[in-house]
Amino acid sequence: MKIAIIGGGISGLSAAFHLERRRRGGADVRYTLFESSDRLGGVMRTERVEGCLIEAGPDSFLSEKQSAADLCRELGIADQLVGSNDAHRRTYILVKGRLVEMPDGLQFMVPTKLWPTVMTPLFSWETKLRMAREFFAKPHTANGDESAAAFIERHFGPEVVDRLADPLLAGVYGGSAERLSVRAVLPRFLDMEAKYGSLSRAMLAAMKKRPANGARPIFTSMKDGMQQLVDAVVAELDPGAIRTSSRVMALGREGGDWVVLRQDSTAVRFDRVIVATPGYIAAGLLRSVEPRLASLLGEISYSSSVTVALGYAAAGFDGRGGKQEDGFGFLVPRSERKRLLACTFVHNKFPHRAPEDRLLLRVFLGGSHDPAALQLGDEEILRTVRDELQQILGLTAEPRFSRIYRWERSMAQYEVGHLERVAEIERLRAGLPGLALAGNAYRGIGVPDCIKSGLDAAAECLRCK
Ligand SMILES: Cc1cc2nc3c(=O)[nH]c(=O)nc-3n(C[C@H](O)[C@H](O)[C@H](O)COP(=O)(O)OP(=O)(O)OC[C@H]3O[C@@H](n4cnc5c(N)ncnc54)[C@H](O)[C@@H]3O)c2cc1C
Repeated sequence: MKIAIIGGGISGLSAAFHLERRRRGGADVRYTLFESSDRLGGVMRTERVEGCLIEAGPDSFLSEKQSAADLCRELGIADQLVGSNDAHRRTYILVKGRLVEMPDGLQFMVPTKLWPTVMTPLFSWETKLRMAREFFAKPHTANGDESAAAFIERHFGPEVVDRLADPLLAGVYGGSAERLSVRAVLPRFLDMEAKYGSLSRAMLAAMKKRPANGARPIFTSMKDGMQQLVDAVVAELDPGAIRTSSRVMALGREGGDWVVLRQDSTAVRFDRVIVATPGYIAAGLLRSVEPRLASLLGEISYSSSVTVALGYAAAGFDGRGGKQEDGFGFLVPRSERKRLLACTFVHNKFPHRAPEDRLLLRVFLGGSHDPAALQLGDEEILRTVRDELQQILGLTAEPRFSRIYRWERSMAQYEVGHLERVAEIERLRAGLPGLALAGNAYRGIGVPDCIKSGLDAAAECLRCK
């Protein structure tokens, strides 16, 4: 059986890894992976500069999602997994120009501890009273989908949307709480609402059930950065099966075969095809095969982002007050009218990523509210970032180095109605035997979700007759 994989990000690579394992196990399978750029890994990319380890794209993954760690175990690199330094796990929110620490006991955006919630300057008294009332909410089953903002506002009021939900979701999706679907991005909260009514009571009940030894770090990464995972997967693949700098222009059907049309106009026939590109690329590839499927794929919107890494001499870092240097970083609500969306203090979150005498910051710009950030030139990006860091942290020191990475349309936005759209995509896809879809467009944008999507797509190709 001949299988084409289109896209060499972590989704396509995971699919290839599954097929390679089955090939070595004796299955009659050959695969070819087509990647348009000259490197593999997609948005996963790590660089080293002056002893600092810089992540251009994802810097880690949620430890509670198992697929990434499981893949590392299969690759024999589980000893290379590193947890975030949760002793420093404090996050700040910019409120009226000042950094305010997120109160203790806040689980994602749900308060679970009374005293820190009462004392925090992060929320007004009105919001604190709403939080208290929320504790007594009655079980309620949502009727259809709604935005994450509407859902959180129902529970805790608009200030929690502005100061927590929106910046937290912008950090994960580069998107806005007003457009993201609660069913797609906060499904656990919906279950909690249906069972308990109150998210706070539900969260407390869940915390009680958690095993005592469940205190694993919240984020996991690789010692040598996320690229290490990419490199380990690639090292397991058959080099003869990888085609980099090989853009696929279209897919076609001939008889029962799939035809892959490449940029150089050559056409190659396969029995199965796994499309592991962003949704809008998959749409273009499948347009002539199934226009309705293509149009649904094209409707999944994507946001763009810019990440900027800045390395400082530790001695030159003059953060005002000093306490913000303690945490993992800070988030900037939209109401603060800044271009920065978030900043990670990498030297605290993953201390091994910066030598003792260096401090490493990583900031994010762009997202669905500021697509224009992607068009800014390097100088303007740096000037903006430095100005805003000075306003927020009082940081005037000259960075020793900086790196700018632009990620155009790379974060899928699961907008209201997303799961219904994905169900329809699935239905139409099922009518096209031999086609599998993987990637961040469908059921999770995190690295573990993408790994799972690739492994599942490959397994399905081998299963289908
Ligand atoms: C800045 C940023 C930070 C992130 N941070 C985190 C994080 O900390 N933790 C986390 O879990 N997730 C994070 N994510 C999300 C996660 O990294 C991505 O969702 C995931 O890596 C996507 O992998 P993928 O293989 O599906 O897509 P991609 O990495 O986009 O790969 C798709 C590949 O397809 C190729 N391609 C496109 N068109 C064609 C074509 N016509 N022919 C052949 N090849 C083609 C592209 O060149 C690309 O290599 C982040 C994402 C970004 C952008």
